[in-house]
Amino acid sequence: ARAWHLTSRPQGLPTNENFALKEIDLPPLGPGMVRIRNQWLSVDPYMRGRMNDVKSYVPPFQIDQPMEGGAVGEVVESTAAGFSPGDRVLHMAGWRDEAVVDARTANKLPPLQVEPHLFLGNLGVTGATAYFGLLDVGQAKAGDIVFVSAAAGAVGSAVVQIAKAKGMTVIGSAGGEEKCEFVRSLGADQVVDYKAQPILKGLAAAAPEGIDVYFDNVGGDHLDAAFALARMRARFAICGMIEGYNKAEPASFRFIMRVIAMRIRMQGFIVFDFQSRMDEFYREMGQLIASGQLQSRETVHEGLESMPDAFRGLFSGENVGKMLVRI
Ligand code: NDP
Repeated sequence: ARAWHLTSRPQGLPTNENFALKEIDLPPLGPGMVRIRNQWLSVDPYMRGRMNDVKSYVPPFQIDQPMEGGAVGEVVESTAAGFSPGDRVLHMAGWRDEAVVDARTANKLPPLQVEPHLFLGNLGVTGATAYFGLLDVGQAKAGDIVFVSAAAGAVGSAVVQIAKAKGMTVIGSAGGEEKCEFVRSLGADQVVDYKAQPILKGLAAAAPEGIDVYFDNVGGDHLDAAFALARMRARFAICGMIEGYNKAEPASFRFIMRVIAMRIRMQGFIVFDFQSRMDEFYREMGQLIASGQLQSRETVHEGLESMPDAFRGLFSGENVGKMLVRI
């Protein structure tokens, strides 16, 4: 099999020199194990954090070891009860073409009549992040004015559509006219192109009455603009701060003191906090997908070789919707 290894820790935006695609020997199939041929691999912004040698909610990638990440593949050999060749599974041994894993770390895809790669997108971590972040962490309700940044991305595009389906007014931000048009097509009431004007100016024009909920994917100047426009008792669901992932210096905030006057409640979250509620998630999201209220869009790179390029593309905004690699 072949697997991407991290060969050195990146400074700033990762380069091709930080990664190497190497042959690996798969271990023999012990009891309770499955051999999986991967078909879809996920690249996600959080992986950038795992490339640094710092303690966080997931351990760092080890130098010269195979990298990991979400993947969907087909079981080709099994010694585990309940798993047979041909089963489609979701697991974490991504960044490689084939893997042998303990079957307890693999999940058979739920029996929903959808394309398997959706379990890496709107029916996977991406969709769950949007769903629980908006409705649980952000406590967003019908009638609220919701601002979501990186709205043309995987999580953001799901947030826009869930919010519209639940009767909210939605303002999305994205970089460039083409992406803004896409966000509009998802039903957003207002869209701000942060590359055409400062986000603060754009958000002030798009939300003359202010915002009740901010779903943060970007951090930095986007979060600052949300402070500036927050209404009384606004809720901020802090999902990600991609603007800072390749920077050594933290962002600074001009409007952060509005947290006090406006009684803003900010809460960070990790999607795994909601693991016990996945049945609810599949039911609700399955319905939104079946009813056509939730469209899924992907940007697909072809071949295992393209993994680092696909990953880096997240930081240049190359993707519309979920970024995936097909092998
Ligand atoms: P996306 O599909 O949204 O891809 C990243 C997007 O971020 C790009 O397409 C780009 O869009 C935008 N972006 C990149 N750099 C910048 C920048 N400097 N300023 C503004 N926008 C930028 O990725 P995901 O949907 O997978 O993730 C979105 C966010 O959610 C990330 O912050 C991620 O870390 C977080 N996340 C958090 C989880 C959790 O459990 N807390 C789980 C999953 C994701 P554009 O072209 O519009 O700039």
